[in-house]
Amino acid sequence: MSKDRKLETNLMHSFENKENQLGAVVPPIFQNSLFTYKDWESIDAAFDDRTNNYIYSRGKNPTVRLVEEKIAQMAGGEQAQLFPSGMAAITAACLHALEPNAHIIAIKNLYGPANNLLSNYLPKKMNTSVTFVSGEDIEDFKNAIQDNTKLIYLESPSTAVFSLQDIPEITKLAKKHGIKTMIDNTWATPILQSAIAMGIDLEVHSCSKYLGGHSDIIGGVVIGSHKEVESIALNEYELLGPKTAPQEAWLLLRSLRTLPIRLKQHQSSALKVAEYLEGHSKISRVHYPGLKSFPQYELGKKLLKGYTGLLSFKLKTTNLNEIKAFVNGLNIFQIGVSWGGHESLVYAPAISYLKELSEEQFENMGISLGDIRISVGLEHVDDLIDDLQNALEHIQ
Ligand SMILES: *Cc1c(COP(=O)(O)O)cnc(C)c1O
Repeated sequence: MSKDRKLETNLMHSFENKENQLGAVVPPIFQNSLFTYKDWESIDAAFDDRTNNYIYSRGKNPTVRLVEEKIAQMAGGEQAQLFPSGMAAITAACLHALEPNAHIIAIKNLYGPANNLLSNYLPKKMNTSVTFVSGEDIEDFKNAIQDNTKLIYLESPSTAVFSLQDIPEITKLAKKHGIKTMIDNTWATPILQSAIAMGIDLEVHSCSKYLGGHSDIIGGVVIGSHKEVESIALNEYELLGPKTAPQEAWLLLRSLRTLPIRLKQHQSSALKVAEYLEGHSKISRVHYPGLKSFPQYELGKKLLKGYTGLLSFKLKTTNLNEIKAFVNGLNIFQIGVSWGGHESLVYAPAISYLKELSEEQFENMGISLGDIRISVGLEHVDDLIDDLQNALEHIQ
């Protein structure tokens, strides 16, 4: 496959071999648990090179492998390992990078279950500890380093408040101290933020968001060097056994063909929606790295090649009934968690937090009742703006 070909072409054609699939225009699904060999000698030889031979589908499967090759190429990594969810990928990468009693530096406002993993589960099981930093200042990281710090865990842009971390600065610091770095790059995708080229050791994604893009699969991936990812493949993947179903991998393969063109549309619509919201009298703030008013806009321009469709904004009203009327007043934006699919979605953090916290505690966390997160989908942007405008009329 020519090295000079562009992203769009590679996502469709690279690593595919029509002769091996009877000319079928779409690669078939290898829906089999094991692979048979013609004699003793050939299976014996396969075991000598387990990395490059198909033996059993908990280890390697050709459909899964094809997607891994395409994702690794897209991300500029040497190797990728698919997982059946983003959380499986995150947990595997953390177990790989850590050892008992290790210390982790992570950013505040991490994706909730990842925060839970670092704050509760790993400390209980492996006696690890974690320091959370805002991540906006390199001094935060310098001050948090301890002798046993083994991992710096980033999420940039973070998907709660969209704060950015200066990835090249942080990886430079980490390398000086022999600390591994990991980033949850789900918001930007490998296309819009080349984390590995900025020195990151382990890039993880939830494939359930833009990479999947059709709201019909749950998946995850870890990308990195051969050395890092092969260790994950032979240990956390094979031993814990979180295998990716060939059918799910194949759906992801379908999705990757349209990822670049989908992202262009998400970006174009989200920018228009963000600008519309920013100009609305009932909205006090819009959080979107693509807006010039975004506090880290310049840093974003350095790190990102573009923007995707997830953003949040703050309604001026703090009247819960009005906030509910706004959310319920949306028709095209459907109410639900997750994001990155073809369809537009709306979610308010207050829906989950108010189950555990009072309104006052909630406001004290720096989140507001009127905080609303939307995923701008692929519907026509004029319809999306009309929908928001109608729903905003429910607020006095
Ligand atoms: C959804 C999400 C995950 C977890 O991915 P799953 O596929 O749902 O397990 C991790 N990080 C971020 C930023 C996410 O949005």
